[in-house]
Amino acid sequence: MPISYASRTDRGRVREQNEDAVLQRPRRSLFAVADGMGGHAAGDVASRIAVDVMDERTLTATPDVDGAALADAIRAAHEAILRAAAADPALEGMGTTLTALSVAGSERCHIAHVGDSRAYRLRDGELRQLTRDQTWVQDQVDAGNLTAEQARTHPYSAMLTCALGIDTTDLDVQVLEPDCQPGDVFLLCSDGLTGGVTDAEIQRILTDHTGLNPAADALVEAANDAGGVDNITVALVRIEAAEA
Ligand code: CA
Repeated sequence: MPISYASRTDRGRVREQNEDAVLQRPRRSLFAVADGMGGHAAGDVASRIAVDVMDERTLTATPDVDGAALADAIRAAHEAILRAAAADPALEGMGTTLTALSVAGSERCHIAHVGDSRAYRLRDGELRQLTRDQTWVQDQVDAGNLTAEQARTHPYSAMLTCALGIDTTDLDVQVLEPDCQPGDVFLLCSDGLTGGVTDAEIQRILTDHTGLNPAADALVEAANDAGGVDNITVALVRIEAAEA
């Protein structure tokens, strides 16, 4: 399916470095966002390894990069990060989220996800979160102990229950196959967006801007206006109607 796309990654207003990474491979309809963590520059290394391995591992997937291929790439990235951390004490303990989207040739998209970066779909003006955050606060929301809004602003909101490079147990890779149709806009983003900007505001920005580049700029601007306390990364992908 034809697509249009735009992505941005921004340091924000507080952090000295940008430890997020974004992958944009429009010819293969492959996009990913990774949000690294770790001391000094280690988070940057982890998120870079994550998107690089995602890129390399899906090169030979045919005919489509499906959910299994995305999940395999995430597991390979996890192993690569663990190996890199084991080889260099300065990188010990680094980790990253990774959320990847592949638009298949059929009316299907594929998403694979670990951590608290997110995938959303905007359809008919309505924004819906597709991925589930792998965070302590999300567990509390699911258990009925916190509301989604309390979770968003909670002091422990960034505490992950699963991440590449961190988990020594089985990596819990969430694989989704949301249907897609012309007009749908998919958003991948790091928590630097969603920590500062509500879903309602994201929906308003995406419906107010028909161009994806202005929409991506407006999302980053909104997160910075909200304080820009974290790195901000967004990738927007719109499913276009096939030409007759
Ligand atoms: Ca972050």
